[in-house]
Amino acid sequence: MEPNKSEQHQQRQRLVVAALRRVLPAQSVLYHEEDTRPYECDGLTAYRQLPMVVTLPESEAQVIAIVQVCREMQVAIVPRGAGTGLSGGAMPIADGLVLSTARLNKILNVDAYARTARVQPGVRNLAISDAVGVHDLYYAPDPSSQIACSIGGNVAENSGGVHCLKYGLTVHNVMAVRAVSMEGEIIELGGAGLDAPGLDLLAVFIGSEGMLGIVTEVTVRLIPKPQTARVIMASFDDVIKAGNAVANVIAAGIIPAGLEMMDKTSSRMVEPYVKAGYDIDAEAILLCESDGTQEEVEEEIGRMSAVLQQAGATAIAVSQSEAERLKFWSGRKNAFPAAGRISPDYYCMDGTIPRKNLAQVLLGIAAMEIKYGLRCANVFHAGDGNLHPLILFDANQPGEFHQAEAFGAEILELCVAVGGTITGEHGVGIEKIGSMCVQFSPEELAAFWAVKRGFDPLLLLNPDKAIPSLHRCAEYGRMHVKKGAVKFPDLPRF
Ligand SMILES: Cc1cc2nc3c(=O)[nH]c(=O)nc-3n(C[C@H](O)[C@H](O)[C@H](O)COP(=O)(O)OP(=O)(O)OC[C@H]3O[C@@H](n4cnc5c(N)ncnc54)[C@H](O)[C@@H]3O)c2cc1C
Repeated sequence: MEPNKSEQHQQRQRLVVAALRRVLPAQSVLYHEEDTRPYECDGLTAYRQLPMVVTLPESEAQVIAIVQVCREMQVAIVPRGAGTGLSGGAMPIADGLVLSTARLNKILNVDAYARTARVQPGVRNLAISDAVGVHDLYYAPDPSSQIACSIGGNVAENSGGVHCLKYGLTVHNVMAVRAVSMEGEIIELGGAGLDAPGLDLLAVFIGSEGMLGIVTEVTVRLIPKPQTARVIMASFDDVIKAGNAVANVIAAGIIPAGLEMMDKTSSRMVEPYVKAGYDIDAEAILLCESDGTQEEVEEEIGRMSAVLQQAGATAIAVSQSEAERLKFWSGRKNAFPAAGRISPDYYCMDGTIPRKNLAQVLLGIAAMEIKYGLRCANVFHAGDGNLHPLILFDANQPGEFHQAEAFGAEILELCVAVGGTITGEHGVGIEKIGSMCVQFSPEELAAFWAVKRGFDPLLLLNPDKAIPSLHRCAEYGRMHVKKGAVKFPDLPRF
């Protein structure tokens, strides 16, 4: 009798595990369900899948050995850092392998003179700043998840954070990346200088969501810690005024160290949780930070306060101590966990729009709350135009998750319609793969596939993520299929 599907899976699992155990210590290969369960999802917990096997390499040589086994046996690899991703990028594949970088967690070198650090991919974002603090240096990109997320994940997602408005995203703060290709070869991109010869493949690689290579080393740029920092909390009785105030600050030639916005739903959600001192009667609050020398900060705080007042701020409070500055930020930094206190589930979207359209898009989202019958809290990197609507729902109520997904997709379509993008920093993963069909034409998607094939001709690295097949776009209803014939028929159509 032919083995059934589950027996086939077990047979293949046995063969793959045996091959991996020839090149890795036994404790670095996990395949029992109780061991692989913790890897079944990332921060997008609505989607889950047990992997066939999980590996925990401790060196680059072991990464190469894993890749060689997978290549020979045609096993797909999903790289994984800390699993805090919000778009399903590290979600496993049923008959695939998860390559965790948890044990590749060493800081290899700190060069305080050149202001760089060379680190392994599993090093936590905040651990870099902690390690270089003795030199009065730090690593600027600061995702709210920085206590947990890995630098390898940051590179794969081109992560951002509160301070990226002034200091740039991951792509602006990483000087070089070393990675292993699906061919088992070392790729070295970037270098010690400001520019490297040839096409800028470092920029292509950063944000490629684990689809082009497995990062094994990252060289980051470090910057001096500012002498001081202060933050303004400004209240507005109208989100339109707050949205316009953001555009006015930038138009005045000021680049704040952070410029964040929270609507009333968000500040009311957060305030009882962290007691940050937020004005819970305001329709929106802005947090505007200035950093630098004492004189620079004083001058900039004065200029920003004047712009905010002219834009209609109803109250302005300026932090008077480092403790108060951290208190003001604590609410913003804890907004996602606070959502769990007022709703059984939330769905965090991530779209970017031109700053001048902030007010228009926030009003659009308010109209969608009525259309879908779901509440939405808006807390986001306003200075970058990077929205994070948190759609509140209850997965136990039949249909509510699908309503939340449809709500999220419509927000992204609105972002594209005003000239923005479907992601700012959380990546596409599996979550926004349909929305890619809204953003990009078949010709553009064909170009993305050509890059993917250039790095990974067998399509074994994190397949089914980030770039949709044209077939998928046709299913999503975003491509015209004439008599069953799609454009570029040779492109993958899983
Ligand atoms: C509470 C919370 C707040 C957050 N706030 C922010 C924020 O402010 N800004 C922001 O940008 N993001 C934020 N995120 C999202 C997330 O933390 C980032 O995307 C982060 O960069 C993911 O890192 P990770 O190590 O957890 O990666 P994972 O989730 O493990 O993986 C993410 C992607 O990177 C790939 N990957 C991981 N390691 C490697 C490697 N070594 N080589 C190749 N590919 C790799 C994976 O395949 C996957 O596609 C937040 C998440 C949470 C839960």
